[in-house]
Amino acid sequence: MSKIGFIGLGRMGKSMALNLCKKGFELFIFDLNTSATAELKSAGAQVSSSVKEIATECDIVVTMLPSSKEVELVTLGDDGIFANAKRGTLLLDMSTVDPASTERLHQIALTHGHSVVDAPVGRLAIHADRGESLFMVGASDGDFKRVEPLLKAMGTTIYHCGPVGSGGKTKLVNNFMVISLCQMNGEALALSQSFGLDLTKTLNVLYGTSATNGQLRLNFPNKVLANDLTPGFTIDLAHKDMSLVLGSAHTNSLPMPLAASVYEFFSQARAAKFGHYDFTGITDVICNLSNINKPRTPEGWTLDN
Ligand code: NAD
Repeated sequence: MSKIGFIGLGRMGKSMALNLCKKGFELFIFDLNTSATAELKSAGAQVSSSVKEIATECDIVVTMLPSSKEVELVTLGDDGIFANAKRGTLLLDMSTVDPASTERLHQIALTHGHSVVDAPVGRLAIHADRGESLFMVGASDGDFKRVEPLLKAMGTTIYHCGPVGSGGKTKLVNNFMVISLCQMNGEALALSQSFGLDLTKTLNVLYGTSATNGQLRLNFPNKVLANDLTPGFTIDLAHKDMSLVLGSAHTNSLPMPLAASVYEFFSQARAAKFGHYDFTGITDVICNLSNINKPRTPEGWTLDN
């Protein structure tokens, strides 16, 4: 059986790696934050002391890191994966990164006899906990077959979007919508608060019309509206994703005025030190600016619809 390396055991990576352990994969793990490894160690994973050790030991290396910067750091250079792995090693990058960087890394990997698959993750952190993620995969047909058993162990829905890089491109299309919907919900709920409306009545109306959306239905009731601002998915990471969306759009001379506006509001939230909040907390940033009460549902409240 293949030996699997896993680098990046944060909010998402830890749950994904735990699901691999539970399904019997032989796992070698690494994170700069050593406290992230304890739970996985008790689940049977072997803790590696460096990226280099993972590279020499494993046949497939999974990365779940914040951005392209960290992915490039662990793959390139004398101590990186590409220089130290045996020929035929596959890098399965599941982070949300710049697709142009993925394509560059794939070209470099080929010169070492390795290959790259990009498989960013859709849905929420709670889905990753339960092994119910969706994956959008960019890979050759052969590499897709190699990573499919791992993806099946971590999620329920897998789409092979096209060649290397197309997973990340699909993810940017998806996250442009997800993050813009989050901003729109925040502004809508703040408007309701500013009118002095009964929040639960407003919510029931929104859930009953075409104004509803996955963020409002799945995420908001469990996070900001329940006064839980722990991430989830941080404002910092959402800001990074909107920067990737705009960077890619500008490269293609594509105007995205809505994306630009959402991006700059997330910049404002970070400047006000809200970057570590769950991204539904963008609602609180808007309410703070207007000095209006934050929307919170009463304890035990459930949807009518
Ligand atoms: P996170 O910040 O919780 O975790 C990142 C982890 O990477 C941390 O444990 C950190 O210590 C580790 N790390 C950073 N640099 C490292 C390095 N050089 N070597 C080893 N470890 C290193 O982030 P997250 O929420 O788990 O997100 C990870 C990726 O997944 C991001 O690209 C994010 O955009 C994407 N994503 C997140 C969600 C979500 O809901 N949180 C959903 C889908 C996709």
